[in-house]
Amino acid sequence: MRQSRRTQRTKSALVAGGAGFLGSHLCETLLQAGCRVICVDNFLTGRMENIVSMMDRPRFRLIEQDICRPLDLAEPVDRIFNLACAASPPRYQADPVHTTRTCVIGTLNLLELAARNNARFLQASTSEVYGDPEQHPQREDYVGHVNCTGPRACYDEGKRTAETLCFDYLRTEMADIRVARIFNTYGPRMDPADGRIVSNLVMQALEKRPLTIFGDGLQTRSFCYVSDLVDGLVRLMDVDPNPRQPVNLGNPGEFTVLQLAGLVRDMTYSNSDFKFLPLPQDDPRRRQPDISRAKTLLDWAPKVPLKQGLMQTISYFTELEASRNKDRI
Ligand code: NAD
Repeated sequence: MRQSRRTQRTKSALVAGGAGFLGSHLCETLLQAGCRVICVDNFLTGRMENIVSMMDRPRFRLIEQDICRPLDLAEPVDRIFNLACAASPPRYQADPVHTTRTCVIGTLNLLELAARNNARFLQASTSEVYGDPEQHPQREDYVGHVNCTGPRACYDEGKRTAETLCFDYLRTEMADIRVARIFNTYGPRMDPADGRIVSNLVMQALEKRPLTIFGDGLQTRSFCYVSDLVDGLVRLMDVDPNPRQPVNLGNPGEFTVLQLAGLVRDMTYSNSDFKFLPLPQDDPRRRQPDISRAKTLLDWAPKVPLKQGLMQTISYFTELEASRNKDRI
């Protein structure tokens, strides 16, 4: 009887970092799939405007809390997605010790919560665990090339330790975990001011400012549209049996930073110049995911081409600018 009540209960998912760029899209997707959603966020880089449309939904609840503090929930939870961590370099470097604490202590607190609830746990890891890679494209069995004392280490090494914790919880059978290694993702709800490459270039083009290019602009990146990424996260969480290994999620299309900047300039009808600045320390030269594992295990591949995704993103930033200008008047 108890069991049948449990299976009839609406699935409940906790999204740590749910007020951020990726987290808010994930919350929406889970609500649409019929889940109860608990969003946990300390609003370090998350924004209320990302979740405001969900706030009056009866199956959505916000808990404003830092995951570095242990979480105690009054209700059971079936799925825990850990997306809590500032993702843009200027933001995660602003308080590097807090970034490491979030990745290590925060992840540990959520793993404990998963263990207590017998919940599945998904860790949002990152392509940054590969550092400045010597292997191209990056496969999940590549162990990486990370500088553990550099300014990016709080994030790169923090995320690597978080993966270690996840796999230790799996090996010791304390929790059913999944690890997604996310590559550069873009789309509506990125923070226009958080210094990520796509939002930077689009905002500079819309405001007719010079487009900043770090280094010679020949370094490459791959860009995954947010709806594709969220689809991959949900598939990884739901797949059976447990893959028991990390899974790359990203778009293998590889573009130089100069190509991206040219595309943004054309699509915004801007005549901004390029402004070349020195390359930041430990900036990776090449970044491209090998997604064979995700294709095989999750039957997943990104669908949205860069131009189409950029169009949506440019529309979002154009509307955001217009509404902010209206508020200023
Ligand atoms: P984001 O900065 O928009 O979102 C992170 C969210 O976590 C924010 O809402 C922030 O307020 C919250 N947060 C940060 N520290 C917290 C803490 N200690 N306690 C509670 N909440 C906290 O970033 P995003 O792009 O949405 O990234 C989400 C996750 O995906 C991150 O873990 C990031 O490392 C990972 N990721 C993202 C990308 C990408 O391209 N967007 C790439 C690789 C990995």
